[in-house]
Amino acid sequence: MKVGVLALQGDVPEHLRSAGGLLPEGSVVALRRPEQLADLDVLFLPGGESTTIARLLHGANLWTPLAQRLREGFPVLGTCAGLILLAREIAPSPFGQDPPSFEVLDVRVRRNDYGSQRESFEAPVVVDGVTGRPFPGIFIRSPRILSVGPNAHPVAWRGEEIVGVRSGNVWGLAFHPELSDDPRVHRRFLEESGFPP
Ligand code: GLN
Repeated sequence: MKVGVLALQGDVPEHLRSAGGLLPEGSVVALRRPEQLADLDVLFLPGGESTTIARLLHGANLWTPLAQRLREGFPVLGTCAGLILLAREIAPSPFGQDPPSFEVLDVRVRRNDYGSQRESFEAPVVVDGVTGRPFPGIFIRSPRILSVGPNAHPVAWRGEEIVGVRSGNVWGLAFHPELSDDPRVHRRFLEESGFPP
């Protein structure tokens, strides 16, 4: 089985490292071309800049085939910018243009809603199915989850606030598990997607 990490922009090496540490050598590949898609069983959409990633997806002719696979139930975990690209609705951001999205995760988000880069922070997060101590959630110019629709359910919380949602095999997190030296969230997603622990 093969795990892909969309590798056009953003924290790609961190996702490759997090997923790679859990799986046999050669199982994790950097997705850059449409012909690679057919071989993949699951995908990570990294954090980065959602407008840039969307533009590069179109430029690489990946947008349409990826949208098609997502409609067919392709398991995907999007972190931060990745969450934005999966969201059903992006509420207008006061900070300029918003990207198009795949609209497969029933959630409404607003980009950069926790503030600028300087206002990035780390906070404990509780993740559904992740046992032990709270997960160290790293938030960098993160989107805020404004509301969760009937076709999705929360899977991560920072206090009372929802910071992660899931709809079937599609997961979106406002924080960056790939930046924490802690594989529990990647492991949980892969297990839920049918990978051996
Ligand atoms: N602010 C970025 C965006 O809107 C997301 C930030 C991130 O992925 N760390 O795309």
